[in-house]
Amino acid sequence: MTNRRKFLSVFSATLAGTLFLNACGNPPEKGGGADGGTASAPVADAGLETKTITLGYVPIVEAASLVVGVEKGFFAKHGLEVKLAKQASWPAARDNVVIGSAGGGIDGGQWQLPMPHLITEGIITNGNKVPMYVLAQLISQGNGIAVSNSLKKANLRVDLTPAAPTILGFPKTEGRKFRAAHTYPNANQDLWIRYWLGAGGIDPDKDIELLTVPSTETLQGMRNGTMEAFSTGDPWPFRIVRDDIGYLAALTAEMWPVHPEEFLAVRADWVDKHPKAAVALLKGLMESQQWADKAENKTALAQMLSSRAYFNTPAAVLEPALKAEYKLGADLKPSNDPKLGPLYWNSDRGVISYPYKSLSLWFLVESLRWKFHPGKLDTIEQAKALVDKVNREDLWRQAATELGLPAGDIPKGSSRGKETFFDGIVFDPENPQAYLDSLKIKR
Ligand code: CA
Repeated sequence: MTNRRKFLSVFSATLAGTLFLNACGNPPEKGGGADGGTASAPVADAGLETKTITLGYVPIVEAASLVVGVEKGFFAKHGLEVKLAKQASWPAARDNVVIGSAGGGIDGGQWQLPMPHLITEGIITNGNKVPMYVLAQLISQGNGIAVSNSLKKANLRVDLTPAAPTILGFPKTEGRKFRAAHTYPNANQDLWIRYWLGAGGIDPDKDIELLTVPSTETLQGMRNGTMEAFSTGDPWPFRIVRDDIGYLAALTAEMWPVHPEEFLAVRADWVDKHPKAAVALLKGLMESQQWADKAENKTALAQMLSSRAYFNTPAAVLEPALKAEYKLGADLKPSNDPKLGPLYWNSDRGVISYPYKSLSLWFLVESLRWKFHPGKLDTIEQAKALVDKVNREDLWRQAATELGLPAGDIPKGSSRGKETFFDGIVFDPENPQAYLDSLKIKR
């Protein structure tokens, strides 16, 4: 508690408070409008099995379209009142979905992958299997790796090779290993930084210390020289640059353009009991994602998310993150390429929202690469079977068809095809073993 107060006094902006003071497990907060007032749209009678669902979210740009759906009335239009419940952390979200909304938890919400798959198998829930369905992708990109200003001279960038001697030399120069952090193990941010380090010839399990640390503690560590890198989602990297704590070494968009990021997943029992409501949820989400994706809506979106009821973060911090106005590298080179920013709907690889099995499979294959879950997830066949069970492309297609999306926006198959990383490594979902074989650093 003392530490928490100390961090809060250091970080006068309010994001830290958002993450730590609005504890989860409380009754879901009612969404407020950008002006702090409520903006509940009348819920249409669409003949659904239920009119409500409780979804958890974490206040980072990944959650934007869920907030848009509530505030702009896109969910209500399709007959569903979505109650958004801010989660204090990823472990809190995990525990709340195990409880379910009937017990004061959540029915589903925003997830890093492969959390829904692992929860389904009980792998991260003490053997407690809670089957879940991945219904849609919420966002692509919008994440990055920030590095402390103490490493300005080495200018770490997406290709770490030139800076590798500095990192590997830490025990000699600093008397300890280089330290990096993420906020939840074995999921997105852990996987992005592992990929980045591995591609640069650095073994994340042997050459450095890779730790799970709350965001505010990581920022404090970067300030006082005990932590060097942080793998996280916006607006955190923006805060780090704005507060002159560090710089943006790599955007995940540079590592893997249009990569899968975070997803909407809901308890399978909720979806099975309320199939029409699940499709209505998807229809509302698709319209929200289209709205959030439009350049002309970014300012309004930043205002909406900034409100006390949601991110409780200044719009001035959120807006550049949403508009992809980055400053990259130690020299803070301005980059204003929307293609590198958060993507909610359109992309060079088609519609973002579709829950491709091929993209989810990568996260489980990466779990095999690092042997995260020995005895529980050991083979490509197990990974494929798990994705087949959890990803519901059929519901997405049904919602898209009912919404009248152009045929070109509705993918026909389960694979987005081959994926190419910045270092030339290719993930072919038809041959994950070849991908594993091509990686130099693995367990
Ligand atoms: Ca993320």
